[in-house]
Amino acid sequence: MSGIVVVFDFDKTIVDCDSDNWVIDELGFTDLFNQLLPTMPWNSLMDRMMMELHSQGVTIEEIEEVLKRIPIHPRVVPAIKAAQALGCDLRVVSDANMFFIETILKHLGIKDCFSEINTNPGYVNEEGRLRILPYHDFNKAPHGCGLCPPNMCKGLIIERIQDSICPQESKRFIYLGDGAGDYCPSLRLKERDCVMPRKDFPVWDLICKDPLLVKAEIHEWSDGGDLERVLIYLINKISKEQEASQFFSPDCKLQTLSVSSAHEALPKPLRVQQ
Ligand SMILES: [Mg+2]
Ligand SMILES: [Zn+2]
Repeated sequence: MSGIVVVFDFDKTIVDCDSDNWVIDELGFTDLFNQLLPTMPWNSLMDRMMMELHSQGVTIEEIEEVLKRIPIHPRVVPAIKAAQALGCDLRVVSDANMFFIETILKHLGIKDCFSEINTNPGYVNEEGRLRILPYHDFNKAPHGCGLCPPNMCKGLIIERIQDSICPQESKRFIYLGDGAGDYCPSLRLKERDCVMPRKDFPVWDLICKDPLLVKAEIHEWSDGGDLERVLIYLINKISKEQEASQFFSPDCKLQTLSVSSAHEALPKPLRVQQ
């Protein structure tokens, strides 16, 4: 396992559109969705729309079929598999929902690449209707972040992941996203982390307004081909830096060890690139 955590947004990052809009549009419910959108939060509207779909006879199987043909750039799956093969810990942080994301990732054969999916709960109830709930229960306990929608603050999720990692491991983060909701977590990244905002998308616009607010290195990308190239480049660069810092670590107290144990304590040789 390398010392890198890669956090992916889902909509317009892993898949090339918004999964909520994709399902609504493909099933012909766009007009109703647009009509109701000004009246309630997005996440509550998705739950309401699933009720409408169910009452008009749309089955879970039909929703799954639509999800399985969602557009995705052909280099995204290879990029995810390569990142996993390089030993990274991959996670999803998304404002879509668990049902959509699991259905799509399973279909693409990459669900097991991820150690964690953080998203709004989504499940099929006993009547066969898909329920979509908020990640944070905003009526009982508002998250208090002014940047994020009421149902989800991705910054809080990043903070939880950062806190769950032992400080001695000095893991470094790479965060990929496109939306306004990816701005809050970008601000929580540290100096040695990297953020990959999708160029000309809302998170990129927000970062460009005042790039000094972001402590992490900024590496933009436009499409899945860029995503793969930039991500693999960053993973290799960080891995080399981590190997080098292990080698020159100031805490290395070799002088206090006996000859035999000092030998065992020597850092592993640097891997030669093939
Ligand atoms: Mg997105
Ligand atoms: Zn937030």
